[in-house]
Amino acid sequence: MTQHLRGAATAAVCLALSLAGCGGAADVATTTGASSPTQTSAPTPPTPTAPTPPTTTGAPDPLTPSAAALKLGRSTPVEDPYYPDTSNPEFDALHYFLNLSWDGLTLTGSTTITFRTTEDVGEFRLDLSAALEVDQVEVDGRGVEFSQQDDGLSVVTEGLETGATHTVVIDYTGRPEPTPAPSGRGDMTEGLGWNTSADGSVYTFQEPYGAFTWYPVNDHPSDEALYDARITTGGDDVGVFNGEFLGTSQSDDLTVARWHVDEPVASYLTTIAIGPYTEHVDTTPSGMEISYWLKPSDLDLLEALEVEGAESFEWLEEHAGEYPFSTLGVVVVDGSSAMETQTMITMSRGAAERPDAVLEHEMAHQWYGDSVTPIDWQGVWLNEGWAMYMQQWYETDTGRPPYAGGISQWRTYDVVSRLSSGPPGDYDPQSFGDTNIYLGPAMMLDEIRKRIGDEEFEELVKSWPAEHENENVSRADFTRWVNDKTGQDLTPLIDRWLDSPRTPRPS
Ligand SMILES: [Zn+2]
Repeated sequence: MTQHLRGAATAAVCLALSLAGCGGAADVATTTGASSPTQTSAPTPPTPTAPTPPTTTGAPDPLTPSAAALKLGRSTPVEDPYYPDTSNPEFDALHYFLNLSWDGLTLTGSTTITFRTTEDVGEFRLDLSAALEVDQVEVDGRGVEFSQQDDGLSVVTEGLETGATHTVVIDYTGRPEPTPAPSGRGDMTEGLGWNTSADGSVYTFQEPYGAFTWYPVNDHPSDEALYDARITTGGDDVGVFNGEFLGTSQSDDLTVARWHVDEPVASYLTTIAIGPYTEHVDTTPSGMEISYWLKPSDLDLLEALEVEGAESFEWLEEHAGEYPFSTLGVVVVDGSSAMETQTMITMSRGAAERPDAVLEHEMAHQWYGDSVTPIDWQGVWLNEGWAMYMQQWYETDTGRPPYAGGISQWRTYDVVSRLSSGPPGDYDPQSFGDTNIYLGPAMMLDEIRKRIGDEEFEELVKSWPAEHENENVSRADFTRWVNDKTGQDLTPLIDRWLDSPRTPRPS
């Protein structure tokens, strides 16, 4: 996710950026405040013709994922120290098949999860919004008892043994609602998860949680899984999802889009967008195909996105190493934020128009956050520290306007955020995504660079994602790894930057 400085800091930042065109950033802040209430209130029924329910009869498409896919989906789920309500450590999802149908108002879904349990259980819990009513649940082909409470679904089983593979099918329907964010951030006021625009189009932003607003899920980064999706929509609408686009098929007035995700993804990194989208494929100089999905009203953004996307991709492959996934796309949506959703970056129009390198930031997360992912939300600085470091390096290296005046100016904003929201290594859980998890951790990485020198640091930048591909990591993993790689005890430096109530003095 990108950070957009707010409040007291914003004026100073705009001042700092004014020569480089800060107007865009200020506009986003204004737009956010003005537009969010209409986006969160009940959407206007948009579609005069109600599409028929989804074609859930017959065998769903990829009902039996391969053994190799199931092995890739194995995780060691944990309970989150900050947001325990959305973590279910007894459940390890291996593969999700999402069969979704949207008529502009009602979501009808059938989710098939191949899973194992991490202990012997007679009951397991998944996260699912109370706005969605479950019609039936089957485990291994047999109907079972279930109950819904708050934003959870409890499934009673006959007794599942640790480690054995099972399948649960959950059929549900309802009008999805976003869930409140544990944050005062301006671009999170829409609410997390499923958002429906006034015209019936759909988008999601769901960090640190919110996937549960549209499908039953173990909604925690420690439980990554593979996905297949089939999205049925009416009229000219197309459903966009992560991964490889397998094409659409038409029947009557309905469009069915199919998607396949071949590497494990955390639920906060899934995305869905529904609207009159068309795909525009651009090939970078090194031969990577990037798909841009835009609605007709956003087509004016395409050319600039393609230029920025290609340059960001080439720069990142040079500095972060080989791209860790097989596909890459960008979907432009309503709302006011931007999110590094895995292999399909979600960009609001406002974020796409900002002068700093938002697209490069979200693309950098594909290495730092998506491929190597924090085990829990206390470690979100691992995502944003690296992404901000790469963003400011890219901006400096390519002569773009530097975010908030560049890293040498960040101390002022970091100290304000530490005082209000806590240090980056132990932030206030009700201030998720504040500046404290972005700037200080990036400055910490810069301190490591100064300590070990440019050449060795640039090697670290590449080897961190390369050596932890598809892994979940903790602060202890990071510290141990950095100390091993450098042969120095950098623990005091890391602790000082992550734990100090005020910004440490740079060296
Ligand atoms: Zn970010």
